[in-house]
Amino acid sequence: MKKNIIGVDIGGTKIASGIVSADGGLGKTVILPTLAAKGADVSLNQVMVSIEMLLSGIAAGKKSVRGIGICAPGPLDPGRGVVHNPPNLPGWKDVPLAALVRKRFGIDTKLENDANAAGMAEMVWGAAKGYKNIFYITVSTGIGTGIIIGGKIYHGKNGMAGEGGHVTVNYDDKDAVCGCGNTGCVEAIASGLHTVRRLRESLRKRPRVRTCIVDMAGGDLDKVTMRTVAEAARKKDRLAIETIRKQGEVLGIWLGSMISVLDPEIIVIGGGVSMIGELIFKEIRRSAYGHTINVFAAGTPIVRAKLKKNVGVFGAASVFMA
Ligand SMILES: [Zn+2]
Repeated sequence: MKKNIIGVDIGGTKIASGIVSADGGLGKTVILPTLAAKGADVSLNQVMVSIEMLLSGIAAGKKSVRGIGICAPGPLDPGRGVVHNPPNLPGWKDVPLAALVRKRFGIDTKLENDANAAGMAEMVWGAAKGYKNIFYITVSTGIGTGIIIGGKIYHGKNGMAGEGGHVTVNYDDKDAVCGCGNTGCVEAIASGLHTVRRLRESLRKRPRVRTCIVDMAGGDLDKVTMRTVAEAARKKDRLAIETIRKQGEVLGIWLGSMISVLDPEIIVIGGGVSMIGELIFKEIRRSAYGHTINVFAAGTPIVRAKLKKNVGVFGAASVFMA
């Protein structure tokens, strides 16, 4: 059995790649700038160079490589291995990435959406080991999700399934305009970026509220991040705790609906916001179990992702483990 898998995680600013073994060990890694602003040819070449650098470090040669897994932000078509036109990869338009890489290196290559891939990696090596029906979410700047059914990623008819971050939770909230163009998506209300945006807006309206959040950001409201809020909450700042509870509540309302729809065995939460820990998880669980018709919901574990650093590389590699 070929034991090495190459995982390549294409982001807007960097391409992280590495050699992952079937048992989840991480060997050599390479990080290159994406150079996205220089256009598709240059950034595509960065992908090829990353893979070349990894292959040159494998003593047993490319015959020991099971496959090259690549994950990128959507929209993309995992079935055909085509990247459509991600907003953070300017110039990429319907690039048949999997075919190009396969042709260049003569190694089987698969393409996957980054949140789907991260969910798969949690099943293979992470917090959802032993489960086959999983709802994975990552909450950072945005909210990404992946649906795994029977041990396989659910792609839907056009490869576009699993965009759970764009489920509308409040169509009436005119403040919640989402990057996708919709109003009221859970991403536009409870992602890290939008939680901080809302907090800033409320502090601008009520500058006299007692809180250490602004001081912690050097007195500059624009420098407040989710990390600042989490840290302030650890110091028992009331506004910070309230902000995180509210975020957890909204995420829970949404997850309650997802439990009603999917009845998953486990929900795994990754991304920066999951690092807040029990304060938000307690609220998410309380809210999710209270907003579903599923009478067994409280038996659905809602847990923190295990893979943190290099989750993209593990995610990309995991598509060869399904
Ligand atoms: Zn949206």
